[in-house]
Amino acid sequence: MAKYTESKCRLCRREGAKLFLKGERCFKGTCAFEKRPVAPGQHGMARKKVSEYGLQLREKQKCKRIYGVLEGQFRTYYEKADRMKGITGENMLSLLERRLDNVIFRMGIGSSRSQARQLVTHAHFTVNGKNVNIASYSVKVGDVIAVKESKKDNKYFSEIKQMKVGAMPKWLEFNPETLTGKILALPTREDVDVQIAEHMIIELYSK
Ligand code: SF4
Repeated sequence: MAKYTESKCRLCRREGAKLFLKGERCFKGTCAFEKRPVAPGQHGMARKKVSEYGLQLREKQKCKRIYGVLEGQFRTYYEKADRMKGITGENMLSLLERRLDNVIFRMGIGSSRSQARQLVTHAHFTVNGKNVNIASYSVKVGDVIAVKESKKDNKYFSEIKQMKVGAMPKWLEFNPETLTGKILALPTREDVDVQIAEHMIIELYSK
């Protein structure tokens, strides 16, 4: 499966924003972007005038990197969103939020989207009782997501069972004791907590 291989912190420095790609470390003083908030490389400090196209491109790159999606798949999300009723940018973010790896992250089972993705691809979950190891699996209202019975007692999930449920997005429910969660609704724009100007991405793709 294709994935980004560049250092995650480098991606934040390139986008000029914290993308929260490394879980707990992102909230500590060891965050590389906080220590050095300039683009990587020899000319990272140089101030450049960025064109409108450049700003739109950066916004798209930022969104792709936050959700860990490569170009081809990202464009597919845009095309699907464009065919849906409603506002294309909001539809696209909703589709990205509905990815199974994102759902596992938002339920607090993974500390970052990339860790959640690894848990999914290593076949730790069922959806409605069936094994699902596809990170891009798109959840629907009423789906029940659970840790596989055979995995429930491993060290990682034993710790999750002790977890106190923090602020949960209102479209999701998760019970750490049973390691089971449910999709209560489809995510709307206000449920998306990433700083993205999605209209810029749509403008870019609409050219
Ligand atoms: Fe980005 Fe997190 Fe690395 Fe900070 S620690 S630069 S937020 S990935």
